[in-house]
Amino acid sequence: MAQILDGKAHADRMLAEVKRGVEARVASGKRPPCLAVVLVGDDPASQVYVRGKVKACQETGITSVEHRLSADASQEEVNGLIDRLNADAGVDGILVQLPLPKGLDSKEALHRIAPPKDVDGFHPLNQGLLLEGLPGLRPCTPSAVMNMLKAYGLELKGQRAVVLGRSEIVGKPMALMLLEEHATVTIAHSRTKDLPAVCREADLLVAAVGRPGLVEGSWIKPGAVVVDVGINRVEDLELATRIFAKEPKKLETLKAKGGVLCGDVRFGEAMEVARAVTPVPGGVGPLTIAGLMMNTLQASV
Ligand code: NDP
Repeated sequence: MAQILDGKAHADRMLAEVKRGVEARVASGKRPPCLAVVLVGDDPASQVYVRGKVKACQETGITSVEHRLSADASQEEVNGLIDRLNADAGVDGILVQLPLPKGLDSKEALHRIAPPKDVDGFHPLNQGLLLEGLPGLRPCTPSAVMNMLKAYGLELKGQRAVVLGRSEIVGKPMALMLLEEHATVTIAHSRTKDLPAVCREADLLVAAVGRPGLVEGSWIKPGAVVVDVGINRVEDLELATRIFAKEPKKLETLKAKGGVLCGDVRFGEAMEVARAVTPVPGGVGPLTIAGLMMNTLQASV
């Protein structure tokens, strides 16, 4: 049986480290770091994510200020708010919760955030610094995954890593960070030929696809480390029966509640083949918020 990489426990350690950093900053006579969260519209999932981020701020001593705009806000209003937050010396970090409502341009909004306040690490300048291997604010999910892999003492140098997914938010920055640690990195995506064979080459497999249970046990090299970034809600019983063949509890939850959360990897199957696996939930999700808190502290320095 594989080891479970406990993202929640590691996130708690990261949050404790941030709290100590905030306390040290305050002890030196400075105000606590301040994160401005911009929420446009009333998407229920976004509201849940924002609540989680605000809670983490409270736990670490970071001040959070929520700025809500209605779903019919114009691009000018969103841009205007970002401009004001950029100019506000009392704000260290700005987070625009995605997705923005239809009709608004996320990239335009994200590119407008002043790079030193870009705690999501999505601004092209910060992405460029990452590409060059220079210090900057880095995307929270991959940087927190790297933080956890290092804490678990997992060897990356010389390892074959396959990153499944090539988004700007997860896949691409994850691949760059693994490369920086001297892994030999392959990025796979929807056009990759013979995906199972590519995945089977991986000593470290990172799945960031958004397809429930895509990665089967037979795709995993025996002894590999598997990081599952995907967060998917499954409601379809037929799909669930297939992907949860080795996870009867998930199937029971779906039947009882009408839906269940899972990753891109068939966790039960992975547990039989891999050396270590992150669960969903309780794996990469909590790490991402901890990464955001780390970035907010970094932005305040
Ligand atoms: P995107 O939709 O932006 O990217 C998905 C990537 O997966 C694309 O590169 C796409 O390829 C690839 N892909 C899609 N289908 C397949 C397939 N059948 N086979 C191979 N590759 C495929 O997603 P994100 O990167 O934003 O997020 C990925 C997942 O991670 C989602 O489930 C999301 O909810 C989750 N997530 C979790 C976070 C956390 O905190 N745990 C944080 C951020 C995201 P192509 O480019 O060719 O279209």
